[in-house]
Amino acid sequence: MKPSNRRSFVIHLAAAGGAIACGRAVAAPKKFEESEPKAVSLGYKHDSAQVDKARFPKHTAAEKCNNCMAWLGKAGDPWAECDLTADRMVATGGWCSSYVKT
Ligand code: SF4
Repeated sequence: MKPSNRRSFVIHLAAAGGAIACGRAVAAPKKFEESEPKAVSLGYKHDSAQVDKARFPKHTAAEKCNNCMAWLGKAGDPWAECDLTADRMVATGGWCSSYVKT
């Protein structure tokens, strides 16, 4: 491969990689759905007020995702990623049994 062809190939490869990276950055993470097996096992609810009181008697209404140590969102975010759910988004007013107060 001639030097100019090699340079052209590298430039095109870098551009393609950048486009792929940009495509990934734009895609919003999916919501963590209450019906998913992991969510069911954690007792996750989008609304902390809907938590099963019989199953989690120590839960209080003040415990919400947005004041949990695992919350990765900013103030005012309606949904954000959580350390526990990896690339999934949980509701600001949600809750699960792994809740840890900030
Ligand atoms: S770990 Fe915390 S932020 Fe994540 S779902 Fe449970 S309560 Fe919400």
